[in-house]
Amino acid sequence: GIRPLIAGNWKMNGTSDSLGELQAIAAGFADASGNEADGLICVPATLLDRAAKAMAGSPVASGGQDCHAKESGAHTGDISAAMLKDCGASHVIVGHSERRADHGESDAVVAAKAKAAWQAGLVAVICIGETREERVSGKTLSVLSTQIAGSVPAEATAANTVVAYEPVWAIGTGLIPTLPDVEEAHAHIRAELKRLIGAEADGVRILYGGSMKPDNAGELLSINNVDGGLIGGASLKAKDFLAIANAVK
Ligand code: 13P
Repeated sequence: GIRPLIAGNWKMNGTSDSLGELQAIAAGFADASGNEADGLICVPATLLDRAAKAMAGSPVASGGQDCHAKESGAHTGDISAAMLKDCGASHVIVGHSERRADHGESDAVVAAKAKAAWQAGLVAVICIGETREERVSGKTLSVLSTQIAGSVPAEATAANTVVAYEPVWAIGTGLIPTLPDVEEAHAHIRAELKRLIGAEADGVRILYGGSMKPDNAGELLSINNVDGGLIGGASLKAKDFLAIANAVK
């Protein structure tokens, strides 16, 4: 099967005060996961260089949380994929729902960012997921289809792409879908990826994200087609993040 990826998204959290947590994650991850998973921590760009140094020699990679679609130029405040790479990143999250909502990022923008990530030699962690309104009105699977068609370029491979399924209503709320609903969404994502990129889709990691915690990680991570997690709040403390890594079977 696919080697799981336990990924943290620190969002807009973390300063030099957090280096101890990063060091604890680096030091504990292999033991916690029983060497059965890879780790990734996506920190604010301001912390990336130091995070990458803290992770050096551990099974935990470092990543950014967004990149610009262009390589360089007059884009004040933006950061290119090459700049993330230069700071030690191997991955970058693109299309997180908070970017889609706060910065109006469309599927087309997300796809352009994924291509920019690849161009710089980074793995793109492409996020998709339905809102509460879309879930209650029965549109979840069609929304996921549209987001995959629009946000995942056809050049995606198992090596350059991770897909994260994050129901928007499950992020930061303590709510998660039922386990059959997670299974259905992930199976649908796998099928849509197959339509897009063929057999290559069998190796693409599909992460679940949204209120994954030490106490629900075991059941979520054992669902078919759930190849790891993208963890927000519970990735900020090494103890919680390592407990989730420990839930990998
Ligand atoms: P929480 O784990 O805090 O719900 O956040 C999930 C998320 O958005 C990860 O990208």
